[in-house]
Amino acid sequence: MAAADAGPDADDGRAAHPARAFVDLGAIAHNVQVLRAAAPTAAVMAVVKADGYGHGLLPTARAALAGGATWLGVAQLAEALTLRAGLAAQPGAPRPRILTWLYAPGAPLHLALEADLDLSASAPWAVAEIDRAARATGRTARVHLKVDTGMGRGGARPEALADLLAAAGAAAAAGTVEVVGVWSHLACADEVDNPATAAQVAAFGEALARVEAAGLHPQVRHLAASAGTLFHPGTHFDLVRPGIAVYGLTPAPDVADAAALGLRPAMRLEARLALTKPAPAGTPLSYGHTARTTTDTHLGVVPLGYADGVPRAASGAGPLQVAGRRYHVAGRVCMDQVVVDLGPESAAVRAGDTAVLFGDGAAGEPTAEDWARVCGTISYEIVTRLGARVPREYRGAGPDDGRAEQP
Ligand SMILES: *Cc1c(COP(=O)(O)O)cnc(C)c1O
Repeated sequence: MAAADAGPDADDGRAAHPARAFVDLGAIAHNVQVLRAAAPTAAVMAVVKADGYGHGLLPTARAALAGGATWLGVAQLAEALTLRAGLAAQPGAPRPRILTWLYAPGAPLHLALEADLDLSASAPWAVAEIDRAARATGRTARVHLKVDTGMGRGGARPEALADLLAAAGAAAAAGTVEVVGVWSHLACADEVDNPATAAQVAAFGEALARVEAAGLHPQVRHLAASAGTLFHPGTHFDLVRPGIAVYGLTPAPDVADAAALGLRPAMRLEARLALTKPAPAGTPLSYGHTARTTTDTHLGVVPLGYADGVPRAASGAGPLQVAGRRYHVAGRVCMDQVVVDLGPESAAVRAGDTAVLFGDGAAGEPTAEDWARVCGTISYEIVTRLGARVPREYRGAGPDDGRAEQP
């Protein structure tokens, strides 16, 4: 991965890729500190699912821990196992709690217990499978009961909670399960005035009371993701679970942009132009000839396409910066490349020069949020869809970097 350090062969390998995503680990540590300051009474679980939202699972996880996260969260069991093994492989590394919450019946939960993971359970069948894995491994499982307070997705609805509590209570009495957490997820926290958030907090309070009445005393109650952490202090409880904000992107661009929140976008996506050439006015561009040059001009070929995660919906619109100037994708996004009309004044731009698709915006370059806007999506999708073909290169490092930047 950190190919640049590993000698000439690695340099060749690096140069064999025309594009790369630079990930600023200092920014990730800084963002976690911003989130800790926003939720001073709660611990932080950095959510690193989907390969750290496209930024790379292990480097991102380590940077988040350096910034003060004490928990990590991932959706899938396979991600959690990779995460635990990767962190454990580094001598002296911290050993955070890791929660994983999305699995289907028959998942190898014994592996979760052997890897010392925390598991979510939304239904009695899940408790039964966890109980079985606990008996098979001789380990007590740490379980977070998930309640549906209004998201209408995971979790037990109020009318199903009694059965979940009965199953969990029986397993706790048998010593196979420890109910360490109760949790839920907010549906509308990015809309600051939406009354659904207060309704979910109230429903969560009722569920917590029923858990306690059942004789279960969880250590951590958690409800907030990034938007809850940043905009709704009443959702913080004992633990917050930010994802997108860890990567320096706003969960709610209509409420506040990253800079207003003190967040630093961690990813910068660049490619080196694979070709530049003059073209006369009226030259049709890319598949379907949906665009045409309007003047005698220069074209640039950017070696990133939809196979790399550049949305095809960015055709004719996706912003880029070349030599300090702003352009946009001309014509259709192809599988491996896009065309940019560099304009008549750009004869000095050469093959090999850098096109910046997005960065933190500090040098006037577009941001992932800009791409999201022109594509009619959210920044989450822009960064998580970045293809495996694009190498990630890490900058800024560890704990000291992060701590030097107390907000
Ligand atoms: C993805 C996810 C998060 C993080 O959400 P962000 O909006 O990225 O902060 C938190 N909790 C759960 C259950 C999730 O699935």
